[in-house]
Amino acid sequence: MPAYNQDNIFHKIINGHIDCDKVYEDEHVIAFNDIQPAAPVHVLVLPKGEYCSLDDFANDAPADVVAHFFKKVRDIANDLGLSEEGYRVIANHGANASQTVHHFHMHILGGRLLGGLIAGDALNR
Ligand code: AMP
Repeated sequence: MPAYNQDNIFHKIINGHIDCDKVYEDEHVIAFNDIQPAAPVHVLVLPKGEYCSLDDFANDAPADVVAHFFKKVRDIANDLGLSEEGYRVIANHGANASQTVHHFHMHILGGRLLGGLIAGDALNR
């Protein structure tokens, strides 16, 4: 996997060089609304540390940072009012997942029936 490249948009958001529509922030985590929402609620949750994807985050980050991150994903979804009706979390890693921003983030999607696991297209078969 390529090394973390600081020249990515989420690194600039974390460092305050680019604005975001912030939903939550603490010492280790930031969450903001996706600029191109795929559902009525579409929030991205990021660790502030420099990890490219779930692959290196889960492997290299301290266990307490990993635990805190996933607890926050749950808490943010709950605070957004999604727990009762349901929501989906997605983490894309690498080319086959079409990851476009190479700073680890999880998508929280909700607010409507989301349908099947992967949007239908010819690549799904
Ligand atoms: P992924 O394909 O998993 O890497 O997802 C990257 C996500 O980042 C996409 O859903 C984009 O719409 C979103 N995104 C890109 N730039 C921004 C930005 N400046 N603010 C909020 N979301 C963004």
